[in-house]
This record gives sequence, C-alpha cells and structure tokens, in this order.
Amino acid sequence: MSDEKMSIFEYAPAPESQAVVTIEPEYGLFINGKFINGKKHFPTVNPANGKKLSSISQASVADVNKAVIAARTAYVKVWSKMAPAERAKYLYRIARIMQERAREFAVLETLDNGKPIRESRDVDVPLAAAHFFYHAGWADKLQYAGFGENPKPHGVVGQIIPWNFPLLMLAWKVAPALATGNTVVLKPAESTSLTALLFAQVCQQAGLPAGVVNIVTGDGAVGAAIVNHPDIDKIAFTGSTEVGKIIARSVAVSGKSVTLELGGKGANIVFEDAAIDEAVEGIVNGIFFNQGHVCCAGSRLLIQEGIHDEVIEKLKHRMSQIRVGDPMDKNTDLGAINSGEQLSKIKELAASGVAEGAEIWSPNCALPDKGFWFAPTIFSGVTQAHRIAREEIFGPVLSILTFRTPAEAIEKANNTPFGLSAGIWSEKGSRILWASKHLQAGVIWANTFNKFDPTSPFGGYKESGWGREGGRHGLSAYLASGKAGK
Ligand code: NAD
Repeated sequence: MSDEKMSIFEYAPAPESQAVVTIEPEYGLFINGKFINGKKHFPTVNPANGKKLSSISQASVADVNKAVIAARTAYVKVWSKMAPAERAKYLYRIARIMQERAREFAVLETLDNGKPIRESRDVDVPLAAAHFFYHAGWADKLQYAGFGENPKPHGVVGQIIPWNFPLLMLAWKVAPALATGNTVVLKPAESTSLTALLFAQVCQQAGLPAGVVNIVTGDGAVGAAIVNHPDIDKIAFTGSTEVGKIIARSVAVSGKSVTLELGGKGANIVFEDAAIDEAVEGIVNGIFFNQGHVCCAGSRLLIQEGIHDEVIEKLKHRMSQIRVGDPMDKNTDLGAINSGEQLSKIKELAASGVAEGAEIWSPNCALPDKGFWFAPTIFSGVTQAHRIAREEIFGPVLSILTFRTPAEAIEKANNTPFGLSAGIWSEKGSRILWASKHLQAGVIWANTFNKFDPTSPFGGYKESGWGREGGRHGLSAYLASGKAGK
C-alpha cells in the first residue's frame, strides 16, 4: 500500500452474520399466546437494499377485538390475581431471554430498520432488556413508589409504537404495563414489526400466561381500532404529533387514560466556554445517532457567535469521518433511512432549506445505489423563520443557528411548539443550572447527549406529549390509583 493510501485510515469490511436469525416468509398476529395468520398481508423490506424480508399480517377490526378479549380475560382471570412477586418472575425471565437472544434481536432490528448493527447491538437491545430488569424490580414494591398503599392497574392497555426504536419502544411500554399488573394489546409500526414478533416468541418461551401480551400488526387503521376500542382502559402512544393529536381527540370523551410521547426539535446549545472537541462529539451523537430518527435529537444547534467558525470547522472535519453504508457492517456509523416515505420527507425539507437561503453542506461520501439513503448534512445560516428550524425533519440533517447572550440562547431554544429535549455545553455548573431552569424541555442533558436509562423519566411537554415513561414517574401512567381496573 502506498504512503498516500496508508494515510487514510481504512477499515476492512466487518459484516455481522445473518445466520443467527430465521426470518419466516409470513408472520401472523400474536393473540392469546398463539400466532394466528391474518387474512391480508403486506411486505416488510430491508431499507438498506429495498429487498423484501417477509410478509406481515394486517389485523382487521375483528382481530383487534379478539386481542382485547384475550387481554381482558387474562387480566381478570390470571394477571390481576397473581401475586406481584410472581409477576416479577416473568419480567425477569423475559429480560434474561432477551439477553440470551440479544444477537438475534440486534441482527433482526438492523435488517428491518436499517440502523447500524453497532447501535442495535450496543444500545437498543441492552436497554430494552434493562427496562424489563428495572420494572421487574418494581412489581412487588409498588406500595412504596409513592402512589398510595395499594395502587391498582388500569386493566387492559393499548400501546402503539413508531419505527425508529422498534424493540426499545416496545420495552418502554410493555415492561411498566406488566410490572404494574396491566395486560397489553400492542401495535408495532408497519415498517418494523419483526422484533415485536420475535418478542412474542420470547413471551411464549418465558411461559407468560396467554393473553397477557397480544401483538397485532398493521397500519394506522389498526392503531385507530385500538384507540377506539371501548374495552381498553388506557392508551400509550409514541409517534408523530399529528397522530398524537388525533388520538387525544378520540379519547377525550372516552374516559380512557392516555400518555403521548410525540415529536421534538431539540436545541443543542454550545456556549463559548464549552470544551469544543467534546461538544463536537455531542453534536454528532445528537443528530446522527440512529440516522437522526430520534424524537429527542439535537436537531437545532445553537452556537455562541464567538466560537461559531471553530465549531463548524471541527464539525465538518468530524463529519468527514462518519462511515455511511451497510448497517450490518460493525464499522458503520450511519445506516439507511427507514423507508422511502421518510426519505421523501427528509429530501423535501432539505430542499426547503436550500430554497429559503440556508447554506447546505455534506461530507463527500458515496451512498449505496439500492435502498434509502441520505448523507449526513448540516445547514448553516439558518434563521428561526426557516422551515428547517421549525419542523421535525427526523433525519440526519442539522440546522445551525447562532446567539450572542445566554438569554438569547434560551429565547431561541424555546421558540418552538415542541418541548422534548435540549443539550447544554458549558464548563460552568452555574450556567448549566441556570439554563436548565429556563429551558422548556422535558429532558435536558449537560455536556452529553442522547443518554438513556430506565430509572430516568423521559417525556416532553407542549406539543411533545403528555406524561413520562421510565423511572418512578413512568409507573404512575400505568396505575389508576385508588381505582380498581374493570
Ligand atoms: P406515526 O405517528 O406516523 O406512527 C406511529 C404509530 O402510530 C405507528 O404504529 C402507526 O401505524 C400508528 N398510527 C398511524 N395513524 C394512526 C391513527 N390514526 N391512530 C392510531 N395509530 C396510528 O409516527 P412515526 O412516523 O412512526 O414515528 C416518528 C414520530 O415518532 C416522530 O415524530 C418522533 O418524534 C416520534 N417519536 C417520539 C418519541 C418520544 O418518546 N417522544 C419516541 C420515538 C418517536
């Protein structure tokens, strides 16, 4: 190899093997502990190459009804009568099986979602198992959680999740629901059902009583059938603000409890006294983790004017090292966009940024010919009026604004209908405390970004949602204190 070539740090391909997973040609619905084939099916594809992976059942309204009956029967006859310490054993068993089958989950998640194997292996799957372990610990200690002496579950909960963290969002929903004594009807997103169906197999393997967890697959119509079902006591939804608003209207007069985890447009604020190299790592993690398909992404970067040029130069240098490509390669940093539909949305918003006068930049990187891809991109010279500063892009696209004073940073950060996340980069503890007091965001990271833990509540306010998931706060959403479930 010539000296010139040696100077570029080259990686040999390091593909993860697919042999660990068996993908069935067709999947059924998981109702009352069994897989039942649906009447209609739709394809699920690998977004990295556009190839079909399998056929997924589209549940009908009658199927949703069967799932709710199974969940109600399991609630009344088994789950609500079981000693909490016994319930906990099932959660521990599920957590352990998820760990044992971690490679299988990670490979399947990457094939179906397009995220790098490094992330599904090191973030999604371990965190999903951690949620089951954490909530298993609560199951027999709920009387000490601060919700009264004898907190009661709601009964049957309907749960609807998005495609960006398919298994992790399932764990965030199912683990607290089961730990608090509820039974579940869950719908995964239509483009990423496979790990939820593998989770259904784990429920069977764990010997979870039939009907405690039911998984119905399909599109938004299936979600609507869950939301509007009269025998569901609580709805937990994670997804877009648009659909969240529809759900809020639907349940308004139903008496159902509801939690909504919706969109975001998080501000990542870099003050002049920040450690710049660390901040650049945090900026990259904040927007390019999971291709930017992250509700709490740091998608608006606010840089104090005096360090603007230095941060941009270092950011561009760092972005030039991001490895975009095969998500199954263990060296890949940025994988595929989850669907053609999402790719069109990202392209349309990026085009609006150019049309409105912001300056676009991407590193020189070759994108694969097949599948859905978008290069890591930054826009500088963004103003608050630009669509790319206001709307959630949900892709690897960063909008960069500047500020002069801390007060201006807060004003700009809060100038959004969302209120999910924010990041602060500063070496001064007092500035961090001051800024976090004034930022309207449910989750605020200081000198780090996108850190998650099951013990820590997560959620937003304003148009980012209602309620919290995780931690003690998240338990309360699954308890109807003082009120017995039906
Ligand atoms: P989406 O709202 O389109 O879909 C989410 C889920 O809702 C899917 O399962 C979908 O089939 C279902 N659905 C669609 N229409 C429905 C209806 N009328 N009634 C009931 N269910 C319906 O969102 P998406 O594109 O899958 O996910 C991306 C969005 O999720 C982003 O806005 C992101 O910010 C948000 N998100 C939020 C959080 C959070 O914790 N706040 C976490 C992850 C993702």
